[in-house]
Amino acid sequence: MRGIPASDPVHKVQSTILAPYGAHESDSRGRMHAEAPASHRGEYRRDRERIIHSTAFRRLEYKTQLFVNHEGDLYRTRLTHSIEVAQVARSIAYRLGLNEPLCEAIALAHDLGHTPFGHAGQDALNRCMQAHGGFEHNLQSLRVVDCLELKYPQFPGLNLTFETREGILKHCSKKNARALGSVGQRFLERTQPSLEAQLANIADEIAYTSHDIDDGLRANLITVSKLREVELFDQHIDAVEHEFPQLGRRQKTYETIRRIRNRLVADLITASQAAIDEARVGSLDEVRAAPGSLIRFSEPMREKNQALKNFLREHLYRHERVHRMNRKAAKVVADLYAAFFRDARLMPDEYRGMANEAAGRDGDSGRARVISDYISGMTDRYAIAEHRRIFNEKIF
Ligand code: MG
Repeated sequence: MRGIPASDPVHKVQSTILAPYGAHESDSRGRMHAEAPASHRGEYRRDRERIIHSTAFRRLEYKTQLFVNHEGDLYRTRLTHSIEVAQVARSIAYRLGLNEPLCEAIALAHDLGHTPFGHAGQDALNRCMQAHGGFEHNLQSLRVVDCLELKYPQFPGLNLTFETREGILKHCSKKNARALGSVGQRFLERTQPSLEAQLANIADEIAYTSHDIDDGLRANLITVSKLREVELFDQHIDAVEHEFPQLGRRQKTYETIRRIRNRLVADLITASQAAIDEARVGSLDEVRAAPGSLIRFSEPMREKNQALKNFLREHLYRHERVHRMNRKAAKVVADLYAAFFRDARLMPDEYRGMANEAAGRDGDSGRARVISDYISGMTDRYAIAEHRRIFNEKIF
């Protein structure tokens, strides 16, 4: 199905401010299962609302972004991270004339497939799944919205529009792309996704670099004096200190982080608008056929941002306290996987039934996939409680 008819006044209002290169609903590649047009909202708004009402979305509240959920109430969780990504993406979309509801839908869904315990959990699950096709959180986000959410009588999953699904699938191997059909096509043809998808991807980066500085400082894993090694930070904290010499430590760092985020956003808007103008793209199809991504930082800002990311990788993501937490998380995930694989009766009835059915159909790989769906859907605290219940061992 191609093209969704404009269905309501909201859609028409939105079209008047939507640039020609933005994602217009009338050009949508539609939904996998045909549905009547949304009666009181646009189609991308309908996607966003389905995502917000999903079970996987609620679970993000208790999933690690960088710190395991129980380490403190003030750290970002996957949920607050996703909301911050949506906020950054929407403000930029507004300025570039892109489709805000589509950007927001992609941003809110982008981490739905994350395992408990962040990247440590995903790496552990991926190791367990090596013989069965591996595990990748980005692919899992698509699997959640396409298959795993069971809410509607007419279809499995949330039946989102092609454009939202295209945005969720940020990267993909050729092998997986072939199995995914139309949404995987661009990885085989090396074409681009919509500008809204490109934007949600970079908004993710802007959100996590800025909030990880905040969380890292709060946890005392990094310090302001060490952060001064990063040009972007040094430059802005100097300006803040100069302007507000009396400001307390906490407010000073907030203001510095806020300015860094604003600087990144402003640069992204200017550089992307220039790239869009230069490429002379006049429609979503032309955006898809463009030789590269058009949502991008200027080269000097890309380098500065890269230096900040390198710093965070070196001093925060690889910090020994984070590493220790990651080791524990990996153990919980690997132990659970091994236990469920040996004895499916340790899983709730529903998953045990699905695992046995999948094993009958696809052998061990079928069983493994159901176990990986079950584990990846767990929140941090649920995984910890399950581990304690089965192994009677206190890890965290
Ligand atoms: Mg993210």
